[in-house]
Amino acid sequence: MQLVIISGKGGTGKTTVAASFAYLSENSIKVDCDVDASNLHIILGGDDIEKKPYIGAKLAHIDSDKCIKCGACEKVCRFGAIKDFRIEPLKCEGCGACKVVCPSEAIRLEDEITGDTIITQTKRGLLSRAEMVIGAEGSGKLVTQVRKTAMQHKKEDEWVMMDGTPGIGCAVMASITGCDAALIVVEPTQSGINDFERVHSLTKQFGIKAFVCINKYDINETIVFEIEKLCQREGIEVLGKIPFDPCVKTAVNDFRPIVSYEESKAGKEIINIWNAFKNKYKEEDIK
Ligand code: SF4
Ligand code: SF4
Repeated sequence: MQLVIISGKGGTGKTTVAASFAYLSENSIKVDCDVDASNLHIILGGDDIEKKPYIGAKLAHIDSDKCIKCGACEKVCRFGAIKDFRIEPLKCEGCGACKVVCPSEAIRLEDEITGDTIITQTKRGLLSRAEMVIGAEGSGKLVTQVRKTAMQHKKEDEWVMMDGTPGIGCAVMASITGCDAALIVVEPTQSGINDFERVHSLTKQFGIKAFVCINKYDINETIVFEIEKLCQREGIEVLGKIPFDPCVKTAVNDFRPIVSYEESKAGKEIINIWNAFKNKYKEEDIK
């Protein structure tokens, strides 16, 4: 079973739910696909036991000794990454067109390390995650690598519990591809409905069974009603509604999962949602 927790945009409570599920599901490998802002390791704690550089891009280099200053590379570069016979690294996409047209073999493409993939041993099992180099591109490819690394460490009977990427870009596509189920965290605001519709259309396109949980449902019950109607029309099950709870802020400040606070009403509801999900996917039936 591969479950991914996603949301149409950041700040909806996705990681609050994902960290709680990761905490509750001891027999799982955890994956933090939110490579631009990974924080499951902060909430779950633990020690890094493996760290590998990730080569996610190529970068062109000009050998000035060989360059005859013909200007062909600058003309062919559609990213405007060459100026005065020099490469501007932040603009270079590593496409290699300049290398092809260079008459004096003055251009070479070199591997660029765009991040590290990391395995962290937490008290609740292994966590696969990444740290991206600031300003690096290609987060979708890095997400795919983080998932591959997780599969290399996954035990046969374990679930894969993923904190997905927010939004609908290529990183979220990399997060949800091949998953068995997606739990979409929605906030009851007008923009929250739009974000939900967009991310749900993505799960539909990818043929992934979607579930919903509504976060802070009590801030706008009129919109909650709209979300529920929409889910009914689309055949999506609402697994639960999490109440607004000031304890969530305390949990964020303490770097702890909200479900570890016994008195938290949000935590109690997330436990109910987790149990509802588990009952749907009995562990013995799922690979
Ligand atoms: S590799 Fe592509 S993007 Fe980079 S400088 Fe050459 S042509 Fe431009
Ligand atoms: S194409 Fe090659 S030789 Fe011509 S300017 Fe570029 S690097 Fe120099």
